[in-house]
Amino acid sequence: MQPSDEFTLDPDDWQGARALAHRAVDEAIDHLAGVRERPVWREPPAALHGFFDAPLPQQGAALEQVYREFSDKVRPYPMGNVHPRFWAWFMGAGSFTGALADFLAAVDGSNLGGGHTAPALVDRQVVRWLREMVGLPDSASGTLTNGGSAANLVALTVARNAKAAEAGVDLRAAGVAALPRPLRFYASDQAHSCHQKALEVLGLGHAALQLVPCDGAQRMALDALQAAVARDRAAGAQPAAVIASAGTVNTGAVDDLQAVGALCRREGLWFHVDGCIGALLRIAPAHRHLVAGIEAADSVALDPHKWLHAPFDVGCALVRDAQAHHASFALHPAYLEQHARGVAGAAYLSDYGIELSRSFRALKVWMTLKEHGVEAFGRLIDQNIAQARHLAARIEAEPALELMAPVATNIVCFRHRVAGGDEVAHRAFNTEILLRVQESGLAVPSDTTLAGRHALRVAIANHRTRRADLDLLVDAVLRIGRELG
Ligand SMILES: *Cc1c(COP(=O)(O)O)cnc(C)c1O
Repeated sequence: MQPSDEFTLDPDDWQGARALAHRAVDEAIDHLAGVRERPVWREPPAALHGFFDAPLPQQGAALEQVYREFSDKVRPYPMGNVHPRFWAWFMGAGSFTGALADFLAAVDGSNLGGGHTAPALVDRQVVRWLREMVGLPDSASGTLTNGGSAANLVALTVARNAKAAEAGVDLRAAGVAALPRPLRFYASDQAHSCHQKALEVLGLGHAALQLVPCDGAQRMALDALQAAVARDRAAGAQPAAVIASAGTVNTGAVDDLQAVGALCRREGLWFHVDGCIGALLRIAPAHRHLVAGIEAADSVALDPHKWLHAPFDVGCALVRDAQAHHASFALHPAYLEQHARGVAGAAYLSDYGIELSRSFRALKVWMTLKEHGVEAFGRLIDQNIAQARHLAARIEAEPALELMAPVATNIVCFRHRVAGGDEVAHRAFNTEILLRVQESGLAVPSDTTLAGRHALRVAIANHRTRRADLDLLVDAVLRIGRELG
């Protein structure tokens, strides 16, 4: 080709780019291999904030310099969830292979909204594998999303539209104003907040979400669910769907999926399972019985960036009725033509969700599942649950500590006792312990409130954690408790 005065974003010097990329990989591997030796979390220093106030760059700088800014100013202050002693909220710990896959996916650059491409075949294969792990039939459909909130939103959209159709309303055409009776969704009072957000986004308002109380094990109380459905019917509403939790965020409790499923069939309700935490219990040999009945769900949301340790982000929605799923999202304007041949000669994956442009996030799940096999991930889930039991036993053996909830799976809620202290005193004392533990860099648990009572919370979804790491946490809590006492 002739020389040209046009320019490109490609490096002028591919050899230099190659050398820098090799260095970046070497340093990334050092970073990951040495993760245990570093603090879990460090506060970004006040002086650093000014650096991020710099204005929009008008002129470019050498990649070398940009990379140095990343390694000096960004890399040292991460969330910490790749560290063996990170147990806050509920996150996976990532993996090297997943990170490598994200790089390779970005280099490939495909947009997975549509297209007859091998990356799209990878995406569809990963969805099929996830469906098989959860036990939905071959005929079910699914889509990868950026996470569990989006996956739940996709599934609840299909549920809403299917129930509107039963009431004679084409919801995509007529909108929620055309519903003859208000739709009602049911979830336990321990369900994730994303369901409220989903119903708000779906135009139903969070008044459409009935929170059902739990039994002593933090599982949705079936008689209360039954009563709420009857009450709504009597009041002229249309009960539409039950959102069962397979693993609650607060305590890891799993609703009785068989009983909820049976109730849904009896009452003609959509049976959705929020399995962002626990759908994958089904691949864990020692605990799969906890999610018996999930395979009967009309839809399931799950989160490969949690217990499959894919780097953020990747979630998945699965829907039993593929036709209803497609009917909720398919849309083909003139510029999204489908052809029998050519680059558009395959089903559009965008027909199963709200995103048109979609990343090649499937690759990280595909590569890690191929590398380790599904069995390894099941054993890791069992390992995390065994570690939670170990932690619970240590807490029960310490007179200064108390467990705050039964340990159903991998989440442990506890607190340090304050002799003669009321709830306010306990909250203040334990919050100070929590913040000191985090600020010391030793470990990162989080906290929550269970029926008005504050608790420290340890959610072990981490393939790097060892029992000895949990012992270090217990020792630190006791030591700080003595210092404060
Ligand atoms: C994490 C989680 C969600 C939300 O998923 P994101 O991936 O954070 O969007 C929903 N439900 C449950 C039970 C979760 O644990």
